[in-house]
Amino acid sequence: MTTYRAPLDDVRFVLHDVLDAGRLAGLAGLQDATPDVVDAVLDQAARLAETVLFPLNQTGDAEGCTYDNGVVRTPAGFPQAYATYIAGGWTSVTADPCYGGQGLPALLNFVVDEFMTSANMALAMVPGLSHGAYHAIAAHGDDALKATYLPKLADGTWTGTMCLTEPQCGSDLGLIRSKAVPAGDGSFRISGTKIFITAGEHDLAETIVHLVLARLPDAPPGTRGVSMFLVPKHLPVDDGGATRPGARNGVVCTGIETKMGIHGSPTCTLVFDEATGWLVGAPHKGMRAMFTMMNDARLAVGIQGLGVGELAYQNALAYARERRQGRVPGGRADDGVAADPIIDHADIRRMLMTMKAQLEGGRALAYWTALHVDLASRHPDPARRRAADDLVALMTPVVKAHLTDLGQDIADLAIQVHGGYGYIRETGIEQLLRDARIARIYEGTNGIQALDLVGRKLGEGAGRLLRQVFHPIDAFLADHRDDPVAAPLTGPLAKAFGRLQLATGLIARTALKDPSEATAAAHDYLKLLGLVTVGWLWARMALAARAKAGGPGADARFLDAKVKTATFYMQHILPQAAAHAAAIAAGAGSVMALDADAF
Ligand SMILES: Cc1cc2nc3c(=O)[nH]c(=O)nc-3n(C[C@H](O)[C@H](O)[C@H](O)COP(=O)(O)OP(=O)(O)OC[C@H]3O[C@@H](n4cnc5c(N)ncnc54)[C@H](O)[C@@H]3O)c2cc1C
Repeated sequence: MTTYRAPLDDVRFVLHDVLDAGRLAGLAGLQDATPDVVDAVLDQAARLAETVLFPLNQTGDAEGCTYDNGVVRTPAGFPQAYATYIAGGWTSVTADPCYGGQGLPALLNFVVDEFMTSANMALAMVPGLSHGAYHAIAAHGDDALKATYLPKLADGTWTGTMCLTEPQCGSDLGLIRSKAVPAGDGSFRISGTKIFITAGEHDLAETIVHLVLARLPDAPPGTRGVSMFLVPKHLPVDDGGATRPGARNGVVCTGIETKMGIHGSPTCTLVFDEATGWLVGAPHKGMRAMFTMMNDARLAVGIQGLGVGELAYQNALAYARERRQGRVPGGRADDGVAADPIIDHADIRRMLMTMKAQLEGGRALAYWTALHVDLASRHPDPARRRAADDLVALMTPVVKAHLTDLGQDIADLAIQVHGGYGYIRETGIEQLLRDARIARIYEGTNGIQALDLVGRKLGEGAGRLLRQVFHPIDAFLADHRDDPVAAPLTGPLAKAFGRLQLATGLIARTALKDPSEATAAAHDYLKLLGLVTVGWLWARMALAARAKAGGPGADARFLDAKVKTATFYMQHILPQAAAHAAAIAAGAGSVMALDADAF
């Protein structure tokens, strides 16, 4: 059996001591988000995650979802847990108060997401999608759609989906075939088949609000001809001001997938047969509207990597303390037992330090990016809003891909720490690797994230987005150039940052001549940017820990561990930057050397 405790101390350290997230309370509309309020909300979220969602994680995996003639049932306990979740107002954290929301920072919602995902990734996905649907409708829907759907998505009684994928159309959304025909009354008739739709049908909520990509009759080919439609499972009825689900709309679930992980999350095939829907945003501008949902979801999927990784790390650590095997050279030999705890072995330490350094560094990366989501939407200075928006645009693919890679690596290491007990089902560890795996695939595979970074984000505004990361790292290194205490951290960071700068210049130059050079380098470049940015955040964390140590009420052991883990990151993980830089410098030649039929 696995156990889970929300990592409140670490989250608070990142939010308050490193990122100074209390400054968000100075922004219009976020006055309530003081550090005290944030801490109180996180305490409650931790309790809900630990006591309501987590006990259903292993049982939900074992039981899975069932399908019977269009009806989908989630595992035992999921409907009650979801009811408790919405009763606590957890679906409305960031929603606008005028639609019944609490108007709290996006950053806070991402932390809540981390706890819920650690506790039960399959169940946490349902409110996650609703959150994305809420924001897409809020940004692009007309007033009538907003008035009908936003209060229901905010209070969680209705849930949301995103319906993009079709049998012939995955990464390439230009291949969408679903059709939308004007009905003459302002609505549309939507027809087509969508596959792999998370929570497309379930027994958790009164009804489901599908956001569907489809083509109008006059649509140009490719992604420029895709529009977004809101298609409810039930047509809404206005009962004297109160909206309720009415007659069934023309959408049915024809099956659910049997799959590797997240068994408690139904992955549905949905057939739309002249279903009634309404346009969200402008005709043929569906990609823009859907990107509001997808960008939010990409950060949330990065958080999934973090959440599953945290659960894996906690359980590996507990096991390493308790399991005894072998003698350590010069080891404890303390109590007459035949073997030392495996945590004393250097190879187990290597794995635990790797997990801890990647996880805590990844957390800083995710929350630093999420903080800028709030700055981008609320800062009074338009230039600061733009700068924050640039940073979020640049780092979204990095958070999504780097953190989901880490989540899977950490789950894999947790199995290794457990030995054979990690491989068998009973301990619950192998579930984490199976659950984490999908996060590298959906919301755009990690390969597609790398292409987005290199193909779109790097070149935008002649490197304008990149400056949001390069300038603060440069300034940090300059500020600490003569600081001998910081040198063990800033030395390796400066070296890796230099490699990143060179690789950026190289890609910019070669891509102009041959775009396939950039696409072949994309994966390595994303990893390099992720490693260096996390390195910079580790240096900041170590300095913040040093500054705090010795202060009133300081937890000396926690802060000392931060400094030591930062040093481990610089010495054992950041050097991977050299390998990625070398692969980028080698170019596309050997990647593409074999003809397709020579494999
Ligand atoms: C459990 C689960 C839940 C899901 N939930 C949803 C959901 O709620 N809504 C939804 O719409 N979809 C959902 N999906 C679908 C998911 O988003 C897609 O599977 C994903 O986007 C990849 O598409 P694909 O499977 O068609 O793979 P493909 O697009 O066929 O890709 C196959 C491989 O080719 C690579 N590739 C593709 N194009 C390129 C390119 N141009 N350059 C380089 N490499 C490329 C990919 O990176 C990948 O490695 C879900 C899938 C699963 C399994």
